Amino acid sequence: MLEELSARQLRDKIVRGEVKSLEATESVFERIEQRDPVVGAYICICKDEALDKAAAVDRRIAAGEQVGALAGVPIAIKDNFCTTFRETTCASKILENFKAPYNAGVVERLEAADAVIVGKCNMDEFAMGSSCENSALKQTVNPWDTSRVPGGSSGGSAAAVAARMCYASLGSDTGGSIRLPACFCGVVGMKPTYGRVSRYGLVAYGSSLDQIGPFATTIEDAALLMNVIAGHDPRDSTSVSEDLAPVADCLADLEKPVEGLKIGVAREFFDVEGLHRDVEQAIRAALKVYEGQGATLVDVSLPHMKYAIAAYYLIATAEASSNLARYDGVHYGHRTANPKDYIDVYNASRAEGFGPEVKRRIMLGTYALSAGYYDAYYLKALKVRNLIRQDFIKAFEQVDCLICPTSPEPAFRIGAKMDDPLTMYLSDIYTIACNLAGIPGLSIPCGFSSDELPVGLQILSGTFTEAKLLRIARIFEKETNYHNQKPKFIETKG
Ligand code: GLN
Repeated sequence: MLEELSARQLRDKIVRGEVKSLEATESVFERIEQRDPVVGAYICICKDEALDKAAAVDRRIAAGEQVGALAGVPIAIKDNFCTTFRETTCASKILENFKAPYNAGVVERLEAADAVIVGKCNMDEFAMGSSCENSALKQTVNPWDTSRVPGGSSGGSAAAVAARMCYASLGSDTGGSIRLPACFCGVVGMKPTYGRVSRYGLVAYGSSLDQIGPFATTIEDAALLMNVIAGHDPRDSTSVSEDLAPVADCLADLEKPVEGLKIGVAREFFDVEGLHRDVEQAIRAALKVYEGQGATLVDVSLPHMKYAIAAYYLIATAEASSNLARYDGVHYGHRTANPKDYIDVYNASRAEGFGPEVKRRIMLGTYALSAGYYDAYYLKALKVRNLIRQDFIKAFEQVDCLICPTSPEPAFRIGAKMDDPLTMYLSDIYTIACNLAGIPGLSIPCGFSSDELPVGLQILSGTFTEAKLLRIARIFEKETNYHNQKPKFIETKG
């Protein structure tokens, strides 16, 4: 069945002429039509363009032409990537009708690899959130249990892969927005090293933290997507030169286990208040699987981890307050209908266009940057960020990677945390430090809770070691069967 194939398997079949991309793409749209009215993963679908592209790839293959690494494979993207072919809404009223004048760097790369882009996915407004509930446009639900959140902010991208409404997708991760929804939806999600993937055309949230990465059902597919999207882009000034950090082929040695693997286990990761028993058990069982494969567990300490949430919610909001200043009713997006005067153009357009969480972030960030508070909050947070980075550097002198939960608990119920932003922010306790340090991180399915919700295992490694990180994840995937599981919803929905 087409639905059972991974992106890599589908691509190989398409290239060998055994399956037509058009057939695969049409079947994806059928699944979207059946399932997305319930899941709500997509903000828009690009059916006509996708079918044209698929047919074109089929024709080129039939003519014996060379095709790209994702030839004919239906892929989804998050709706904060600029595209000329559809609106880029960031799930915000302020950008509801915004059409970008250019394509994001990663969109160009997907197209150059002959991927078929099927649609743009729901998210928390401007990527601010952990549950997708902050979307101003719609609610995405978790395909494993539709009364629960898919995680955020890239909840749509994760749910689309989990419900097999695309073969893989891309999201963005500022403080966990790829890894947390991957964990909640039982798929693989990876945040690359800061600077590895171009942010050109990614609508900015926290520019020093944002990074684009893949969602997939297998590690191999995540590696395949990394190969397509990684690399220097002169249009993103923080994109790292390939002379300084050559781009590794993530697929090349994927099956080779890491010799003498040393895994760091930080005490701080298990001392977290609210760590769900089922999650802790699944992580401890996963560590046993690694030990069974010859890995050594090493106790390490990350003494500044406990300040990560506080530092992140100052730095990310400070950067957001500056980045979001551009939505002024003049340059982009929504403009109020009857302004009293020109000041009101700004005030009313922003008041009408932004949702409550975005306003909260702008206020927090503006406060942290204001004269008199800058040193006490923002500057201090930057210093803490440096200490957290040092903790990781020290740890990676002793070990190849660190393993911990991706989230303290499985997917929570829709509405459970909406009245309490601080509780919502605590969902990011395991994912945020990785962005502050700029290192790569990955979440893979590693078990189920007693109420049959997926549990995610997070693996973190040193800067620019994505290929090794994926190899480490593959060791676990080979020994277990969690990635092969599909949400029950699919069986009932067909
Ligand atoms: N939940 C975090 C936040 O709201 C992270 C979001 C993200 O990674 N974009 O800021």
